[in-house]
Amino acid sequence: MKTALICGISGQDGAYLADLLIGKGYRVIGSSRDAQTKNFSNLSRLGLVNKIETCSMALTDFRSVLQTLSQFEPDEIYNLAGQSSVGLSFQQPVETFDSITVGTINLLEAIRFLDRPIRLYNAGSSECFGDTGNQAANENTAFKPRSPYATAKSAAHWAVANYREAYKLYACTGILFNHESPLRPKRFVTRKVVLRACEIARAGGGTLELGNIAISRDWGWAPEYVEAMWRMLQLDLPEDFVIATGQSNTLKQFCADAFDAVGLDAGDHIVIRKDLMRPSDIMAGKADPSKAKKTLRWQAKHTMRDVVRMMIDAELRQMDGASD
Ligand code: NDP
Repeated sequence: MKTALICGISGQDGAYLADLLIGKGYRVIGSSRDAQTKNFSNLSRLGLVNKIETCSMALTDFRSVLQTLSQFEPDEIYNLAGQSSVGLSFQQPVETFDSITVGTINLLEAIRFLDRPIRLYNAGSSECFGDTGNQAANENTAFKPRSPYATAKSAAHWAVANYREAYKLYACTGILFNHESPLRPKRFVTRKVVLRACEIARAGGGTLELGNIAISRDWGWAPEYVEAMWRMLQLDLPEDFVIATGQSNTLKQFCADAFDAVGLDAGDHIVIRKDLMRPSDIMAGKADPSKAKKTLRWQAKHTMRDVVRMMIDAELRQMDGASD
């Protein structure tokens, strides 16, 4: 039986990845900064609480990382932890850099120190590319980060690449474009849109306040993306991959689909607020995930329209008090 350590198991991806790995017969250890006080609501929602072991680990504290790796002796580590909001990173740039970049280097150092054949998956981000315009980004596209979050993810990406080259660690980064689900925290725009559309439909009126809705992104379905993470650690040699659907849409279109799904017209409810716009934003995010299709044999099955429908269905069920 293989042992996997999922750093940041309380988040969206952590819960879906735990589900996948348990189904594959892994012993799953999940870390949180403070496992004693965390309620792990995403794991509860997927019925996983009694199927995994949890531990407290602060990625920014090398001793804590070393102790955790020594105690559980994982075969695979999935680094999904760290400050994950682009918007919040403008307000907490140092916390963002520490938790993402220093955290990743601590993991790399601990693996190197222990000198065991541990495989590391690092959660990279399409935000590193900055504005792609109409040119779809692949694994060779230069990084032009436009937020503290993206600069931190870029530095972590290159740290992983450096340890792979310099110390021959099995370490790789998945450059994931946006992936959504009902487990997305409410501060993220997709969940905010879906939640408000459902609330407005139920209440018979109301507004949704947003910043720039002309931005376009590649939005996929999170439960599928964790399969790509696992596949990356099953290759003979570690490589980085862009993971995405290959289709981009505007936020305006996302809103239109969400309101349409509850029988409303988004144009009647959206209010644009200048103060919700970011200091610097990415207008277009476009992906070329062909390497993942060829080498990992992974391809997204769901595109944005399906994602919107599944999130709306789950939100309405949640409002009705049913569990997923
Ligand atoms: P979440 O925000 O849902 O989960 C991240 C986890 O990291 C949290 O549950 C939390 O665990 C921990 N965390 C949060 N803030 C901090 C912090 N300041 N310092 C240390 N740990 C923190 O993220 P997702 O599951 O959506 O994403 C997983 C990873 O993939 C993240 O690294 C994210 O940046 C990256 N990513 C996500 C994309 C997406 O579309 N979802 C796209 C591209 C990359 P706890 O509080 O228990 O310690």
